[in-house]
Amino acid sequence: MSKEIKAVKETLEERTLRMLNNPWDLYNAPFKIVDDVYFVGTNWVSIFLLDTDEGLVLIDCAMQETLYLLIDSIHRLGFDPRDISKILLTHGHFDHVGAVRSLQEISGCEVWIGEGDGFFFTERRDLIVFEDRVPPFKIDHYYDYNQKIQIGDFSIEPVHCPGHTPGTSSLFFDIERNGEVLKCAVHGGLGAAVMSNAYLTANKLPVSLQTDYLNSIDKVVDRKVDIVLPSHAGHCVDHDFLSFANTDGSKFIDPSAWRRMLLAKKAEIVKIIENEKNETL
Ligand SMILES: [Zn+2]
Repeated sequence: MSKEIKAVKETLEERTLRMLNNPWDLYNAPFKIVDDVYFVGTNWVSIFLLDTDEGLVLIDCAMQETLYLLIDSIHRLGFDPRDISKILLTHGHFDHVGAVRSLQEISGCEVWIGEGDGFFFTERRDLIVFEDRVPPFKIDHYYDYNQKIQIGDFSIEPVHCPGHTPGTSSLFFDIERNGEVLKCAVHGGLGAAVMSNAYLTANKLPVSLQTDYLNSIDKVVDRKVDIVLPSHAGHCVDHDFLSFANTDGSKFIDPSAWRRMLLAKKAEIVKIIENEKNETL
């Protein structure tokens, strides 16, 4: 069998296992996005580091398997992983939460997540996906969507965006650049692979999550966002986020990128729903 045909035949599960078993292939050098906001993630899953007056904040932390890459990235930027004070999780899938337990042990940091995903860590660990790769960890806080999280000079607004998972949470915050206030945003979950009727039904999740997903996009698509921080670089469907590394930072500022990304992902889900409808006709 030729290499090409083999690659086409690889299922999503096989592809993910290959990544988990070859974490070095996911290495991406860390870089500064704007002052106090850094990328310390992999070339698949993002991790953002905020340097606040009250310690370091991580938005997601990727996998247990890539922890050593994260530790190295934090050191390379001149920070100390023991100074992490909070991890703000976008949702409860393995690729975003796998390294939490180790980071809690290293730094004693607090862990936040959307309450809607809380049951992933109690009665439905199977919904974490590849849950045997995710050591149990303590959740300290669920987001209060009516209250911003104040950490040093950062004020982070969590917004419930259910769909990708029931508790998917997006995070919005302002930063200052050359005297100008810029709005940064991480959408908590846009992956389409877990949104099909077939996946939801097989995993005993309500198919209404598809509608929730579309409504969640509508809820935040009109927000003014200057800097998109994609939870997976691949979600920026029309540009290569990681290629902006080590520039002067201005390329990250793109006030229409948020809308473009969300509408493209929305179209993907609409297509999945339409295709499934046609199959059942
Ligand atoms: Zn996910």
